[in-house]
This record gives sequence, structure tokens and C-alpha cells, in this order.
Amino acid sequence: MLAYHRVGAPRFDPWRIALTEGEFDGQLAALAHVGRFVRVSDELDRTSVARLADRSRRFGITFDDGYSDNLHQALPILERHGAPATIFVASGYLDQPSFWWDRLAADVLGSSDSDVQTSAAVDEIIGGQPESSSARSAVLARAWDHMSVLEHEEIEPLLTRLEERIGRFPLDREERPLSSRELLELAEHPLISIGVHTSHHRRLVELPEADQQSEMAGCLDDLNGRIGASDRLLAYPYGSQNAQTALVAKRSGFRFGFSVEPGWISVFDKPLRLPRFDPRSEQQINTVLTVA
Ligand SMILES: [Zn+2]
Repeated sequence: MLAYHRVGAPRFDPWRIALTEGEFDGQLAALAHVGRFVRVSDELDRTSVARLADRSRRFGITFDDGYSDNLHQALPILERHGAPATIFVASGYLDQPSFWWDRLAADVLGSSDSDVQTSAAVDEIIGGQPESSSARSAVLARAWDHMSVLEHEEIEPLLTRLEERIGRFPLDREERPLSSRELLELAEHPLISIGVHTSHHRRLVELPEADQQSEMAGCLDDLNGRIGASDRLLAYPYGSQNAQTALVAKRSGFRFGFSVEPGWISVFDKPLRLPRFDPRSEQQINTVLTVA
């Protein structure tokens, strides 16, 4: 299983989650050369005996977050290779102008203020230590760490306050979450399945159980309401999960859950703690492409 996010060339990509269209096309061609693509839920629904007996190399493509480029850039390439994909959508971001982490990254990395000014503004807003590094990447990492456990309603005013201090750096128009209409278009496509990536993309392991449950079940209900019954697959935001999170996922009605721990999926894995490879890691993609 491979965990993609974005296909395109965003101006800022501090988490290195984007592949260009050429890179994505090249990876799919290389994968098709050594194995075949499967629909994630079809593969996991096969019996253990059938999965063990099948010695072919099989690849499942997934996308996390629900970027609009999944429809406009990735889908034509998936079609060219006949590759099915599951897109894990953070439903609270549908129709929003941006994901908060992209807005934060553009503001911090794009600000024309000095590093020291930018750092001071960020630390004042997040309550960081003033003696911390003022390198932009370190400042961004501090702010990201602080915000990724917050509620959506708490992040917005922080970003607005930050932008009053260091200015707002505009994102490109295509750097945005899916719209409701685009989600429907994807959901109706024969190659695409839609999965759950929680409502607001918070780091689950640091949240109380009730909040974990509402993040997972809220997104499932929302997506079911929009596109009909889903496969009840879940990708944990940031891959953040542990045994307790998996238990909450099970109670919330999920059948399979995916982390970003690298590894092949075997029939012996716990269904709600399945690994996925990161195709942006050269080492991991080489592992995937090397025929055993
Ligand atoms: Zn995500």
C-alpha cells in the first residue's frame, strides 16, 4: 500500500508530500512493470488463504487529505495506468479555501519579515520559548506542532493573528481541498473509492477518547451522507495511532485503518493498524520496486 498526498508542484512543500505529475506517472509505470494494481478494499476483503496463495506483487494506491489536485492532476494519470485509488478525505475541509497547514507554511516561509521578526511573532502567538531557533523551518515546525492538536475553531484565530503580524502570503488557487462537487465527481468514478481521514485532521493519540471518536465517526457520517455507504476504511491523520486509537476506530465502525509505518501488508497484521509505504521516500519506493 502506498500513501500519496498531492500531485503537482506547490510553491511551498515543507513536508515533502507532493509529487510532480511526471514523477507520479513514472512511479505508476515502474509499479506496473513489477506488479499489478488492486483496489484496497477488494484486496483486504479476500480470504487469508487466497491472499497467501497469490504470489503476485500487488499495489494499492491511496491519497490522504483530499486535495483538489487528486481530481485534476492525479486522476488522469491513474486512468492512464488503470490504477484504482482510495482517497482519504478530511471532510471538515471540503469547500474550504485551504488546509490550515498550507496556509501556515505559506505565511511563515513566504513572509517578507526577517527571520527574527517572524520567529518572535510565531512564538508570541503559540506561547513558544523566545530562545528557540529562528530558522524558518524550525519556526514552522514549532507552530505546526502546536496547532496540529487544536480544534479547527482554535486554529483560525491564531492564523489570523499571525497574519496581522507577518502578513498573509497567498496560496495558488489550485492548492486547496476538494469542493463538495469535486468529491462527488471522484466518488462516482469507477477507479476511485473514498475513505475517512477524520473531520478536522487532528493528531488523534493526543486527544481524549470521546474526541477521537467524534473525529472518526463524524467524518464517516458526513461522507456517508454525501456519497452513500463507504468501505469504512480509515487513514489516521499524520499516521497518529496506537492500540487505543485502533480500538476507538473499531468501535466507530471501521473495518481497516492505515498508519504511515512503512511495510508490506500481511494477513497477520492487525486490520486497524495496517502499514503503508511513503512514495516520497527514495528508500521506501526502492523497497517497493525491488522484486523479492
Ligand atoms: Zn493527512
